[in-house]
Amino acid sequence: MRVIMLAPPGAGKGTQGERIAARYGVPHISSGDIFRDEVARQTPLGKELSGYLDRGDLVPDDLVLSLVKDRVVTAAEQSGGYVLDGFPRTLEQAEAAAGIGREANVSAQAVVYLDAPADVLIGRLAGRGEDRTDDSEAVARHRLAVYAEHTQPLVDYYAARGILVKIDAAGPIDVVSGEIFAVLDRIKR
Ligand code: ADP
Repeated sequence: MRVIMLAPPGAGKGTQGERIAARYGVPHISSGDIFRDEVARQTPLGKELSGYLDRGDLVPDDLVLSLVKDRVVTAAEQSGGYVLDGFPRTLEQAEAAAGIGREANVSAQAVVYLDAPADVLIGRLAGRGEDRTDDSEAVARHRLAVYAEHTQPLVDYYAARGILVKIDAAGPIDVVSGEIFAVLDRIKR
């Protein structure tokens, strides 16, 4: 099972991504988690990343690719798939991901797009503001704007390629998971 998660901040991409990975027995590769881990370990790279994360700005594409590419290929080859959570996030990254997919014969089969109204997203982000330094209201709003500008265009990009699965993510976690599994189970068979 090779899946890309596509969703605005607060839609539940991480939660649902983990559940999909568990159900189909493939690694959950979260670019945000990878970056936060570098920051927590205070590596040189982490120091470079922390500014982008704290501001809610996108990490430059070359840095993203250098941290994500090998993990994707290894996951596909050794575990038979992946759930990509947070990557790709720009059209340039989507093209790079497509290139990696073609090269290693591990292209994504489905892009799970979690759709939810802005007021639901802002409510959820405000609710977790104590856990993450980038979830304060101002930064959360900025991340939503960055999403709208840079990431939202991927919805049309993947729809045009026939692999977009649009899911209503405003409901309870289990209901959303159920809808995702119903679609992915059909793809897997
Ligand atoms: P969320 O889905 O709530 O926005 P993530 O954990 O996916 O949270 O991402 C957190 C932050 O990490 C982003 O705001 C951004 O700064 C950075 N980031 C994660 N993935 C990417 C990516 N593919 N390209 C650029 N920046 C990224």
